[in-house]
Amino acid sequence: MKKLSFKTGFMPKDGLDFVHQRKFMREALLEVCSPREVTIPMKQHIGTPCDPVVSVGDEVAMGDLIGVPSDMNGVPVHASISGTVTKIDMIRLPNKVSCKAVTIKNDLRRRVSSKIQPRKDIAKLSLSDLSKLLWQSGICGMGGEGVPTYTKCVRAEKMGVDTLLVNCTQSEPFLSCDLHHIRVNATKVLQGAMALSGVCRVKKVIFCIEDMWEDEIAALQMAVDKTKERYMDRSISIRLFKTRFPQGCQQLLIKALYGVEIPLGREPEEVVKAVLFNASTCFAFSEMVEKNQPLVSRIVTISGDTITGHNVMVPIGTSVEEILERVPGAHSAQRIAWGGAMTGVAIGSLKVPIIKTTTAITIIRKFEPPRLNCIHCGTCVGACPVGLSPYLLNRLIELGQTEQMEAESVEQCIACGACSYVCPAGIELSTNIAKAAHRARRSATR
Ligand code: SF4
Ligand code: SF4
Repeated sequence: MKKLSFKTGFMPKDGLDFVHQRKFMREALLEVCSPREVTIPMKQHIGTPCDPVVSVGDEVAMGDLIGVPSDMNGVPVHASISGTVTKIDMIRLPNKVSCKAVTIKNDLRRRVSSKIQPRKDIAKLSLSDLSKLLWQSGICGMGGEGVPTYTKCVRAEKMGVDTLLVNCTQSEPFLSCDLHHIRVNATKVLQGAMALSGVCRVKKVIFCIEDMWEDEIAALQMAVDKTKERYMDRSISIRLFKTRFPQGCQQLLIKALYGVEIPLGREPEEVVKAVLFNASTCFAFSEMVEKNQPLVSRIVTISGDTITGHNVMVPIGTSVEEILERVPGAHSAQRIAWGGAMTGVAIGSLKVPIIKTTTAITIIRKFEPPRLNCIHCGTCVGACPVGLSPYLLNRLIELGQTEQMEAESVEQCIACGACSYVCPAGIELSTNIAKAAHRARRSATR
């Protein structure tokens, strides 16, 4: 089978060790975290924030509704553990979102909402039932910005999309949360994707996965074969991609698959009639369809420069502090990022909660040498997947030369973090360039 990819990008320098670490991570047993308390933000997605529907002192069970948005542009939020609501106040997240948050103290009784029950009549669910369930599930994209999945499906249907892509590639070297689901629950991921394809009214489903994951590819193939008769009305295929980063970015995946660039401000739904969901999102929807369980927990990959990475199943709202209690020596970290090594945001407080879109926590323990001047090695140019010259853009930003930046197409930056990741001088390029790109795009639309 032809393997797809894109030009430029990078593979980590540590080659074989990297491959070994990645394989170990997705094979390691999944740890389950039971926190003392959770702080659940009312805005974990793009769109309308939720208003709390509980008060301090209320008892809640896992899966109970605790926040609802005022319109369908948001998604509801649910309790991720059972316990007592102890606080409702404002919170500011590392992604600069400020919103209300509900704190629940764990009663350690693991009580589950009475609404969560195995569904006996799955086959009888109509497409409009599935659509309602999708909104009620509170699912938003679990690998990106957090677009409500319901909103994405409605838009896909309106635009007459004909293909659903399941993104099983990862956009950063040490992420393996999606792979864990595919390895252990390939059938559920497939069933979730099929349910989403029903909501979007799509008949063609393509799983996109890196070629190095032989076991996961086999698990997916087995799931496809097993469910072939049930989904006779749809075409299901698996496409292989070369391992190269940041392959998981939507724009690069579409380019590799269709040979088409998505112009700025446009979506794949309009340009190639395809809608993209990641494997964790598909898994989460299969939980809703099968047992009415909304999105209350997710897998987070814990990795770092001196630890062996692993995956932890975490109730939404768990603090980074409680997760890192299980990682020996984490308190001596120089820096902790909320997210992966390339796109994660450095956090100043360990009280920050995990939200629906948090894929990873990255621990950086090694002493970071002071930032050096650019040595003009060109490594960042070779790594930039959209053909920019990050070192030059960074210099233009320092000099405040906006026009030249625009002449260098700064607005094309997809904030993938590859340039900072590969820079031998340790220069933080991507944050500055991504901000300048955002400003350039905003001024272009005025
Ligand atoms: S963050 Fe922007 S400039 Fe840097 S590699 Fe990615 S796309 Fe290129
Ligand atoms: S990778 Fe770093 S040192 Fe090399 S050209 Fe780019 S900014 Fe300069």
